[in-house]
Amino acid sequence: RPITNHLPTAELQALDAAHHMHPFTTNDKLAKKGARIITQAKGVWLKDSEGEEIIDGMAGLWCVNIGYAREEIAEAAARQIRELPYYNTFFQTSHVPAIALAARIAELAPGDLNHVFFAGSGSEANDTNIRLARHYWTLKEQPQRQVIIARKNGYHGSTMGGASLGGMVSMHEQGMLPIPGIVHIDQPYWYLEGGEMTPEDFGLARARALEDKILEIGPEKVAAFIAEPIQGAGGVIVPPASYWPEIQRIVDKYGILLIADEVITGFGRTGNWFGSQTFGIRPHIMTIAKGLSSGYAPIGGSIVCDEVAATIASDEFNHGYTYSGHPVAAAIALENLRIMEEEGVVEHVRDVAHPYLAERWHALGDHPLVGETSLVGLMGSLALTPVKGERVRFASEAGTAGFITRERCFANNVIMRHVYDRMIIAPPLVITPAEIDILMDRATKALDEAY
Ligand code: PLP
Repeated sequence: RPITNHLPTAELQALDAAHHMHPFTTNDKLAKKGARIITQAKGVWLKDSEGEEIIDGMAGLWCVNIGYAREEIAEAAARQIRELPYYNTFFQTSHVPAIALAARIAELAPGDLNHVFFAGSGSEANDTNIRLARHYWTLKEQPQRQVIIARKNGYHGSTMGGASLGGMVSMHEQGMLPIPGIVHIDQPYWYLEGGEMTPEDFGLARARALEDKILEIGPEKVAAFIAEPIQGAGGVIVPPASYWPEIQRIVDKYGILLIADEVITGFGRTGNWFGSQTFGIRPHIMTIAKGLSSGYAPIGGSIVCDEVAATIASDEFNHGYTYSGHPVAAAIALENLRIMEEEGVVEHVRDVAHPYLAERWHALGDHPLVGETSLVGLMGSLALTPVKGERVRFASEAGTAGFITRERCFANNVIMRHVYDRMIIAPPLVITPAEIDILMDRATKALDEAY
């Protein structure tokens, strides 16, 4: 019997449990409960195998920026598959989708970020960045500059390189990570770690942790610093305003490469094309993925500044992926960027985020379970608190309140993510005010039920 959407849910769940290993999941537990089977999606709405309609407050995994089921993308993909479904860019050949996409990204990216090395995902792109940064310094005749500084509770992917750059202890514990030459500094998480300091002072202190680490290692040994403009998977942790200017001063002072991981913040999420523009950051390298294709095809990349690209170009860079610049993925990404520009999606983010979503989001701060609300563009988080008015987390089994709230969201047909006791939204960027109302009504109901 063919396995299609027409099979009963229980049968699909049984097959899923029997053969499909889910990422970031305790598969035994999921098998008992049965996965929710998503069968269709349109705009900001998902449909499951029971016919339930779910509003997607997470744009899939922070990626479906233009919303689901866009016909133009289906056509662009079909056209490209008919014309040239695959060719590589390794051995003296190129093709139009990769050329056009690289040129378009260079146009959109700020400053002299004019060169793109394609990958299949954000993780792969960050692996590329490790090799790019280290090889760059070797070519600059400073081969001792190999250490990359990253942050605790940062997220940079799941490959050995990406997970090493990330500061997730639970990932490091599996597989002997981090790989050598990667060290982590504390995060700018004022709400839980700022103590009595003002956010401003705390932001400066946490930025200066970078300078302390550079001096401890020896500036001549440091290749790069990597960070997300806003930590996403770490809990949508928005740094105090003082943080990024001080980081920028420090990387400038010691001449180390700054890598902005824009996998989530890129392509409109924060109300500008890139989060670096929102925070006034001037990176040498940017990691991109997710919103580049709105998740319609797996594609990522590193956007590289003129100087680094010119240096790398002077030698053979022994690195690349079979799917670097994949023509179908590139054609999809190009069409996605065309739609974003034609429909003014980035401007739309600014229009609906402030004041519309912001007013409703920050009003949740009055809820007895909520200790803090943060929102930049269409990327928001709530810290759940056991003691209203105090900046504390749940003492035992961190994440319990978040887990319950997430389950209540699920039951109320709204997708929100939880990271320990932080609740997160990052809806498709095309969400309308009426859909924001539905999202917020359901989220509020879930919080009430969890309380
Ligand atoms: N970097 C950041 C900031 C991310 O949020 C993610 C994924 O969530 C990645 C890298 C990894 O991207 P991918 O899952 O496409 O490998």
